[in-house]
Amino acid sequence: MTGLIAELRRAARGEVIEHAPLASRTSVRVGGPAKVLVKPNDPRALVEILGLLRGAAVPWFSLGGGANTIVGDLGVNGAVIRLGQDFAAEEVEEGGDHVVLTLGAGAPIARFLSLAKEQRGVGVAWVAGIPGTVGGLVAMNAGTPAGCMADHLLAAEVASPDGLRWVDAADLHLAYRHCELPPGSVLTRARCRVRRGSEGDLIEQQRVAKADVDRRRATQPLNLPNSGSVFVNPRGDFAGRLIEQAGLKGTTRGGAQISNRHANFIVNLGTAKAADVVELLALARRTVLDRTGIELKPEVRLVGDFDPPLPPELQAHHLQPVLPGLDVAAVEMPDRTKSCLRVQP
Ligand SMILES: Cc1cc2nc3c(=O)[nH]c(=O)nc-3n(C[C@H](O)[C@H](O)[C@H](O)COP(=O)(O)OP(=O)(O)OC[C@H]3O[C@@H](n4cnc5c(N)ncnc54)[C@H](O)[C@@H]3O)c2cc1C
Repeated sequence: MTGLIAELRRAARGEVIEHAPLASRTSVRVGGPAKVLVKPNDPRALVEILGLLRGAAVPWFSLGGGANTIVGDLGVNGAVIRLGQDFAAEEVEEGGDHVVLTLGAGAPIARFLSLAKEQRGVGVAWVAGIPGTVGGLVAMNAGTPAGCMADHLLAAEVASPDGLRWVDAADLHLAYRHCELPPGSVLTRARCRVRRGSEGDLIEQQRVAKADVDRRRATQPLNLPNSGSVFVNPRGDFAGRLIEQAGLKGTTRGGAQISNRHANFIVNLGTAKAADVVELLALARRTVLDRTGIELKPEVRLVGDFDPPLPPELQAHHLQPVLPGLDVAAVEMPDRTKSCLRVQP
Protein backbone atom coordinates (compact mmCIF):
# COMPACT_ATOMS: atom_id res chain seq x y z
CA MET A 1 0.00 0.00 0.00
CA THR A 2 2.89 2.42 0.75
CA GLY A 3 3.86 2.67 -2.92
CA LEU A 4 0.24 3.19 -3.87
CA ILE A 5 -0.19 5.95 -1.27
CA ALA A 6 2.77 7.80 -2.75
CA GLU A 7 1.27 7.41 -6.24
CA LEU A 8 -2.12 8.63 -5.02
CA ARG A 9 -0.47 11.66 -3.39
CA ARG A 10 1.26 12.53 -6.63
CA ALA A 11 -1.88 12.06 -8.72
CA ALA A 12 -4.44 13.69 -6.40
CA ARG A 13 -2.91 17.16 -6.28
CA GLY A 14 -5.17 17.32 -3.20
CA GLU A 15 -5.44 15.52 0.12
CA VAL A 16 -4.58 11.86 0.71
CA ILE A 17 -5.17 10.76 4.31
CA GLU A 18 -4.40 7.31 5.66
CA HIS A 19 -6.68 5.87 8.36
CA ALA A 20 -9.05 8.77 7.81
CA PRO A 21 -11.95 9.04 10.26
CA LEU A 22 -15.27 8.85 8.43
CA ALA A 23 -17.73 9.39 11.31
CA SER A 24 -17.13 13.12 11.18
CA ARG A 25 -17.65 13.04 7.41
CA THR A 26 -21.17 11.63 7.67
CA SER A 27 -24.21 13.35 9.14
CA VAL A 28 -25.07 10.56 11.61
CA ARG A 29 -21.48 10.57 12.88
CA VAL A 30 -20.85 6.85 13.37
CA GLY A 31 -18.41 4.37 11.89
CA GLY A 32 -14.74 3.61 11.56
CA PRO A 33 -11.99 5.03 9.37
CA ALA A 34 -11.18 4.55 5.72
CA LYS A 35 -7.90 2.85 4.97
CA VAL A 36 -7.23 5.84 2.76
CA LEU A 37 -9.24 8.93 1.89
CA VAL A 38 -8.40 10.57 -1.40
CA LYS A 39 -9.55 14.04 -2.31
CA PRO A 40 -8.60 14.66 -5.94
CA ASN A 41 -8.48 18.31 -6.72
CA ASP A 42 -9.83 18.23 -10.27
CA PRO A 43 -11.40 15.83 -12.79
CA ARG A 44 -8.10 14.91 -14.44
CA ALA A 45 -6.66 13.94 -11.06
CA LEU A 46 -9.78 11.90 -10.34
CA VAL A 47 -9.43 9.94 -13.59
CA GLU A 48 -5.80 9.18 -12.76
CA ILE A 49 -6.71 8.08 -9.24
CA LEU A 50 -9.42 5.74 -10.51
CA GLY A 51 -6.81 4.22 -12.83
CA LEU A 52 -4.36 3.76 -9.97
CA LEU A 53 -6.99 2.11 -7.77
CA ARG A 54 -8.03 -0.18 -10.60
CA GLY A 55 -4.40 -1.09 -11.28
CA ALA A 56 -3.86 -1.95 -7.62
CA ALA A 57 -7.26 -3.76 -7.35
CA VAL A 58 -8.20 -1.57 -4.39
CA PRO A 59 -11.96 -1.26 -3.86
CA TRP A 60 -13.28 2.24 -3.36
CA PHE A 61 -16.40 4.12 -2.46
CA SER A 62 -17.41 7.60 -3.51
CA LEU A 63 -18.58 9.75 -0.58
CA GLY A 64 -20.39 13.04 -1.02
CA GLY A 65 -21.65 14.96 2.00
CA GLY A 66 -22.36 11.72 3.87
CA ALA A 67 -25.98 12.75 4.53
CA ASN A 68 -27.31 9.38 3.44
CA THR A 69 -24.43 7.12 4.41
CA ILE A 70 -23.80 4.91 7.44
CA VAL A 71 -20.25 3.60 7.71
CA GLY A 72 -19.62 0.34 9.60
CA ASP A 73 -17.69 0.45 12.88
CA LEU A 74 -14.76 -1.38 11.29
CA GLY A 75 -14.50 1.30 8.63
CA VAL A 76 -13.81 0.94 4.95
CA ASN A 77 -11.12 -1.51 3.97
CA GLY A 78 -10.29 0.36 0.81
CA ALA A 79 -10.25 3.88 -0.54
CA VAL A 80 -12.89 6.54 -0.06
CA ILE A 81 -13.00 9.21 -2.74
CA ARG A 82 -14.31 12.69 -1.96
CA LEU A 83 -14.34 15.43 -4.52
CA GLY A 84 -12.06 18.41 -3.93
CA GLN A 85 -12.57 22.10 -4.49
CA ASP A 86 -12.48 22.09 -8.30
CA PHE A 87 -15.64 20.02 -8.51
CA ALA A 88 -17.95 22.96 -7.89
CA ALA A 89 -17.61 24.73 -11.26
CA GLU A 90 -20.82 26.15 -12.75
CA GLU A 91 -22.17 27.00 -16.19
CA VAL A 92 -25.40 28.61 -17.29
CA GLU A 93 -26.94 28.17 -20.77
CA GLU A 94 -29.80 30.38 -21.86
CA GLY A 95 -32.83 28.58 -23.25
CA GLY A 96 -35.57 31.22 -23.47
CA ASP A 97 -38.36 29.83 -21.30
CA HIS A 98 -35.84 27.71 -19.42
CA VAL A 99 -32.22 27.68 -18.37
CA VAL A 100 -29.72 24.82 -18.30
CA LEU A 101 -27.54 24.80 -15.21
CA THR A 102 -24.37 22.74 -15.00
CA LEU A 103 -23.25 22.13 -11.44
CA GLY A 104 -20.16 20.40 -10.14
CA ALA A 105 -20.86 17.17 -8.24
CA GLY A 106 -18.92 18.47 -5.23
CA ALA A 107 -21.14 21.56 -4.84
CA PRO A 108 -23.61 21.65 -1.95
CA ILE A 109 -27.16 20.72 -2.94
CA ALA A 110 -28.32 24.13 -1.70
CA ARG A 111 -26.33 25.70 -4.55
CA PHE A 112 -28.74 24.12 -7.06
CA LEU A 113 -31.57 26.12 -5.51
CA SER A 114 -29.62 29.37 -5.17
CA LEU A 115 -28.19 29.22 -8.71
CA ALA A 116 -31.66 28.47 -10.10
CA LYS A 117 -33.00 31.45 -8.18
CA GLU A 118 -30.27 33.73 -9.56
CA GLN A 119 -31.38 32.67 -13.05
CA ARG A 120 -35.11 33.12 -12.33
CA GLY A 121 -35.53 29.33 -12.35
CA VAL A 122 -38.62 27.88 -10.68
CA GLY A 123 -39.97 24.44 -9.78
CA VAL A 124 -37.03 23.63 -7.51
CA ALA A 125 -38.45 24.57 -4.09
CA TRP A 126 -38.32 20.85 -3.21
CA VAL A 127 -34.51 21.10 -2.99
CA ALA A 128 -34.69 23.29 0.13
CA GLY A 129 -33.57 21.48 3.24
CA ILE A 130 -31.98 18.42 1.58
CA PRO A 131 -28.38 18.23 2.81
CA GLY A 132 -25.47 16.80 0.82
CA THR A 133 -23.73 17.36 -2.48
CA VAL A 134 -24.94 17.52 -6.08
CA GLY A 135 -23.21 14.14 -6.64
CA GLY A 136 -25.33 12.59 -3.89
CA LEU A 137 -28.44 14.34 -5.20
CA VAL A 138 -28.01 12.61 -8.56
CA ALA A 139 -26.78 9.27 -7.22
CA MET A 140 -29.78 9.03 -4.88
CA ASN A 141 -32.24 10.77 -7.19
CA ALA A 142 -33.06 12.61 -3.98
CA GLY A 143 -36.23 14.61 -3.62
CA THR A 144 -39.59 14.95 -1.95
CA PRO A 145 -43.16 14.29 -3.10
CA ALA A 146 -42.97 17.74 -4.76
CA GLY A 147 -40.04 16.91 -7.02
CA CYS A 148 -36.79 15.06 -7.45
CA MET A 149 -33.61 15.20 -9.48
CA ALA A 150 -35.14 13.11 -12.28
CA ASP A 151 -37.45 16.07 -13.04
CA HIS A 152 -34.47 18.23 -14.04
CA LEU A 153 -31.46 16.13 -14.94
CA LEU A 154 -30.53 16.16 -18.64
CA ALA A 155 -27.16 14.46 -18.37
CA ALA A 156 -24.44 13.64 -15.89
CA GLU A 157 -20.71 13.69 -16.44
CA VAL A 158 -18.89 10.70 -14.97
CA ALA A 159 -15.25 9.87 -14.47
CA SER A 160 -13.77 6.41 -14.91
CA PRO A 161 -10.20 5.24 -15.47
CA ASP A 162 -10.89 5.74 -19.19
CA GLY A 163 -11.63 9.45 -18.81
CA LEU A 164 -14.62 11.74 -18.53
CA ARG A 165 -17.87 11.35 -20.48
CA TRP A 166 -21.44 12.56 -20.43
CA VAL A 167 -24.25 10.09 -19.85
CA ASP A 168 -27.85 10.92 -20.82
CA ALA A 169 -30.22 11.06 -17.88
CA ALA A 170 -32.36 8.36 -19.57
CA ASP A 171 -29.44 5.94 -19.34
CA LEU A 172 -29.25 6.38 -15.56
CA HIS A 173 -32.74 4.86 -15.14
CA LEU A 174 -33.64 7.31 -12.41
CA ALA A 175 -36.53 6.18 -10.23
CA TYR A 176 -37.60 6.70 -6.62
CA ARG A 177 -34.24 7.03 -4.76
CA HIS A 178 -32.63 5.01 -7.53
CA CYS A 179 -29.93 5.76 -10.10
CA GLU A 180 -27.82 3.34 -12.14
CA LEU A 181 -24.40 4.86 -12.65
CA PRO A 182 -22.01 3.14 -15.03
CA PRO A 183 -20.13 0.62 -12.84
CA GLY A 184 -16.92 1.98 -11.39
CA SER A 185 -17.69 5.62 -12.15
CA VAL A 186 -17.83 8.82 -10.11
CA LEU A 187 -20.21 11.67 -10.93
CA THR A 188 -18.39 14.90 -11.67
CA ARG A 189 -21.05 17.24 -13.10
CA ALA A 190 -24.80 17.45 -13.59
CA ARG A 191 -26.70 19.33 -16.34
CA CYS A 192 -30.13 20.34 -15.14
CA ARG A 193 -33.04 22.01 -16.91
CA VAL A 194 -34.99 24.52 -14.89
CA ARG A 195 -38.09 26.40 -16.06
CA ARG A 196 -37.99 30.19 -16.02
CA GLY A 197 -40.69 31.89 -14.00
CA SER A 198 -42.19 35.29 -13.41
CA GLU A 199 -41.38 37.50 -10.43
CA GLY A 200 -44.58 36.18 -8.81
CA ASP A 201 -43.49 32.55 -9.40
CA LEU A 202 -40.15 33.31 -7.75
CA ILE A 203 -41.78 34.83 -4.70
CA GLU A 204 -44.08 31.81 -4.45
CA GLN A 205 -41.10 29.47 -4.76
CA GLN A 206 -39.36 31.30 -1.95
CA ARG A 207 -42.47 30.95 0.19
CA VAL A 208 -42.84 27.21 -0.51
CA ALA A 209 -39.12 26.56 0.15
CA LYS A 210 -39.28 28.40 3.48
CA ALA A 211 -42.48 26.56 4.47
CA ASP A 212 -40.75 23.26 3.68
CA VAL A 213 -37.72 24.12 5.80
CA ASP A 214 -40.04 25.19 8.65
CA ARG A 215 -41.97 21.92 8.30
CA ARG A 216 -38.70 19.98 8.53
CA ARG A 217 -37.67 21.91 11.65
CA ALA A 218 -41.02 21.09 13.26
CA THR A 219 -41.19 17.41 12.31
CA GLN A 220 -37.60 16.14 11.95
CA PRO A 221 -34.96 15.71 14.68
CA LEU A 222 -32.56 18.21 13.15
CA ASN A 223 -30.98 18.95 16.54
CA LEU A 224 -29.29 15.52 16.62
CA PRO A 225 -26.98 13.75 14.13
CA ASN A 226 -28.99 11.55 11.74
CA SER A 227 -28.96 10.37 8.15
CA GLY A 228 -32.42 11.46 7.09
CA SER A 229 -35.09 8.87 6.35
CA VAL A 230 -33.59 5.47 6.96
CA PHE A 231 -36.17 3.55 4.90
CA VAL A 232 -37.79 4.41 1.60
CA ASN A 233 -41.56 4.74 1.81
CA PRO A 234 -43.38 1.63 0.68
CA ARG A 235 -45.90 2.20 -2.10
CA GLY A 236 -48.96 4.01 -0.75
CA ASP A 237 -47.68 4.30 2.81
CA PHE A 238 -45.02 5.94 4.97
CA ALA A 239 -42.18 4.08 6.67
CA GLY A 240 -42.35 6.52 9.60
CA ARG A 241 -46.06 5.84 10.14
CA LEU A 242 -45.52 2.06 10.09
CA ILE A 243 -42.61 2.23 12.55
CA GLU A 244 -44.58 4.53 14.85
CA GLN A 245 -47.62 2.23 14.70
CA ALA A 246 -45.35 -0.67 15.65
CA GLY A 247 -44.70 1.23 18.90
CA LEU A 248 -41.01 1.77 18.24
CA LYS A 249 -40.76 5.57 18.50
CA GLY A 250 -38.17 6.41 21.14
CA THR A 251 -36.67 2.89 21.23
CA THR A 252 -32.99 3.08 22.16
CA ARG A 253 -30.05 0.78 21.50
CA GLY A 254 -26.72 1.90 22.89
CA GLY A 255 -26.31 5.53 21.89
CA ALA A 256 -28.85 5.45 19.06
CA GLN A 257 -32.59 6.05 19.12
CA ILE A 258 -35.57 5.76 16.80
CA SER A 259 -36.43 9.43 16.94
CA ASN A 260 -39.28 10.54 19.18
CA ARG A 261 -40.04 13.21 16.64
CA HIS A 262 -40.04 11.19 13.40
CA ALA A 263 -39.95 7.39 13.49
CA ASN A 264 -38.19 7.05 10.12
CA PHE A 265 -35.16 8.86 11.56
CA ILE A 266 -32.53 7.18 13.74
CA VAL A 267 -30.62 9.72 15.80
CA ASN A 268 -27.22 9.57 17.43
CA LEU A 269 -27.70 10.62 21.05
CA GLY A 270 -23.97 11.27 21.32
CA THR A 271 -22.25 7.91 21.76
CA ALA A 272 -23.89 5.80 19.05
CA LYS A 273 -21.98 3.18 17.16
CA ALA A 274 -22.94 1.97 13.71
CA ALA A 275 -23.88 -1.33 15.38
CA ASP A 276 -26.52 0.49 17.48
CA VAL A 277 -28.00 2.16 14.41
CA VAL A 278 -28.03 -1.12 12.50
CA GLU A 279 -29.70 -2.92 15.42
CA LEU A 280 -32.51 -0.36 15.35
CA LEU A 281 -32.78 -0.60 11.56
CA ALA A 282 -33.10 -4.36 11.79
CA LEU A 283 -35.58 -4.14 14.68
CA ALA A 284 -37.81 -1.67 12.83
CA ARG A 285 -37.71 -3.73 9.67
CA ARG A 286 -38.47 -7.01 11.47
CA THR A 287 -41.25 -5.59 13.66
CA VAL A 288 -43.03 -3.86 10.77
CA LEU A 289 -42.72 -7.02 8.66
CA ASP A 290 -44.18 -9.19 11.45
CA ARG A 291 -47.06 -6.80 12.12
CA THR A 292 -48.02 -5.77 8.59
CA GLY A 293 -46.27 -8.04 6.10
CA ILE A 294 -44.64 -4.92 4.61
CA GLU A 295 -40.92 -5.18 3.99
CA LEU A 296 -39.17 -1.87 4.57
CA LYS A 297 -36.12 -1.24 2.38
CA PRO A 298 -33.23 0.91 3.59
CA GLU A 299 -32.77 4.25 1.86
CA VAL A 300 -29.49 4.85 3.69
CA ARG A 301 -26.33 3.46 2.15
CA LEU A 302 -24.57 1.03 4.47
CA VAL A 303 -20.89 1.14 3.67
CA GLY A 304 -17.82 -0.77 4.80
CA ASP A 305 -17.40 -3.45 7.45
CA PHE A 306 -19.85 -3.90 10.28
CA ASP A 307 -19.32 -5.56 13.64
CA PRO A 308 -21.36 -7.66 14.17
CA PRO A 309 -21.76 -8.32 10.44
CA LEU A 310 -24.92 -6.93 8.90
CA PRO A 311 -27.89 -9.26 9.10
CA PRO A 312 -28.39 -10.84 5.65
CA GLU A 313 -31.67 -9.01 5.08
CA LEU A 314 -30.01 -5.60 5.45
CA GLN A 315 -28.19 -5.43 2.19
CA ALA A 316 -24.96 -3.56 2.53
CA HIS A 317 -24.33 -0.94 -0.02
CA HIS A 318 -21.11 -2.13 -1.55
CA LEU A 319 -17.75 -0.64 -2.07
CA GLN A 320 -17.66 0.00 -5.78
CA PRO A 321 -16.01 -2.70 -7.87
CA VAL A 322 -13.01 -1.34 -9.66
CA LEU A 323 -12.16 -4.18 -11.95
CA PRO A 324 -14.50 -4.05 -14.95
CA GLY A 325 -16.00 -7.38 -15.80
CA LEU A 326 -14.78 -8.95 -12.59
CA ASP A 327 -17.15 -10.45 -10.06
CA VAL A 328 -16.39 -8.42 -6.95
CA ALA A 329 -17.27 -11.34 -4.70
CA ALA A 330 -14.21 -13.03 -6.19
CA VAL A 331 -11.87 -10.24 -5.11
CA GLU A 332 -9.88 -11.46 -2.15
CA MET A 333 -10.26 -9.06 0.77
CA PRO A 334 -8.70 -9.47 4.20
CA ASP A 335 -11.12 -10.91 6.78
CA ARG A 336 -13.99 -11.77 4.46
CA THR A 337 -16.16 -12.74 7.44
CA LYS A 338 -16.54 -9.11 8.39
CA SER A 339 -16.58 -7.69 4.91
CA CYS A 340 -19.87 -6.64 3.42
CA LEU A 341 -18.58 -6.27 -0.11
CA ARG A 342 -21.26 -7.24 -2.54
CA VAL A 343 -21.45 -7.64 -6.25
CA GLN A 344 -22.78 -4.57 -7.99
CA PRO A 345 -25.53 -5.56 -10.38
C1 LIG B 1 -31.79 15.88 7.89
C2 LIG B 1 -31.82 15.16 6.57
C3 LIG B 1 -32.89 15.34 5.71
C4 LIG B 1 -32.92 14.68 4.48
N1 LIG B 1 -33.98 14.87 3.65
C5 LIG B 1 -34.03 14.25 2.46
C6 LIG B 1 -35.13 14.43 1.57
O1 LIG B 1 -36.07 15.19 1.83
N2 LIG B 1 -35.13 13.75 0.40
C7 LIG B 1 -34.11 12.92 0.05
O2 LIG B 1 -34.17 12.32 -1.03
N3 LIG B 1 -33.04 12.73 0.87
C8 LIG B 1 -32.99 13.37 2.05
N4 LIG B 1 -31.91 13.17 2.89
C9 LIG B 1 -30.82 12.26 2.46
C10 LIG B 1 -29.65 12.99 1.75
O3 LIG B 1 -29.69 14.37 2.04
C11 LIG B 1 -29.73 12.80 0.24
O4 LIG B 1 -29.75 11.42 -0.11
C12 LIG B 1 -28.55 13.46 -0.46
O5 LIG B 1 -28.76 13.42 -1.85
C13 LIG B 1 -27.24 12.78 -0.11
O6 LIG B 1 -26.17 13.52 -0.66
P1 LIG B 1 -24.69 13.25 -0.13
O7 LIG B 1 -23.77 14.02 -0.99
O8 LIG B 1 -24.62 13.53 1.32
O9 LIG B 1 -24.55 11.69 -0.42
P2 LIG B 1 -23.72 10.61 0.39
O10 LIG B 1 -24.46 10.23 1.63
O11 LIG B 1 -22.32 11.04 0.55
O12 LIG B 1 -23.79 9.39 -0.63
C14 LIG B 1 -25.04 8.80 -0.93
C15 LIG B 1 -24.85 7.91 -2.17
O13 LIG B 1 -24.48 8.73 -3.27
C16 LIG B 1 -23.26 8.28 -3.83
N5 LIG B 1 -22.50 9.43 -4.28
C17 LIG B 1 -22.29 10.60 -3.63
N6 LIG B 1 -21.52 11.42 -4.39
C18 LIG B 1 -21.23 10.73 -5.53
C19 LIG B 1 -20.49 11.02 -6.70
N7 LIG B 1 -19.87 12.19 -6.88
N8 LIG B 1 -20.40 10.07 -7.65
C20 LIG B 1 -21.02 8.87 -7.51
N9 LIG B 1 -21.75 8.54 -6.42
C21 LIG B 1 -21.86 9.46 -5.45
C22 LIG B 1 -22.54 7.55 -2.71
O14 LIG B 1 -21.61 6.62 -3.25
C23 LIG B 1 -23.72 6.89 -2.01
O15 LIG B 1 -24.09 5.72 -2.68
C24 LIG B 1 -31.85 13.82 4.11
C25 LIG B 1 -30.77 13.66 4.98
C26 LIG B 1 -30.74 14.32 6.19
C27 LIG B 1 -29.56 14.13 7.10
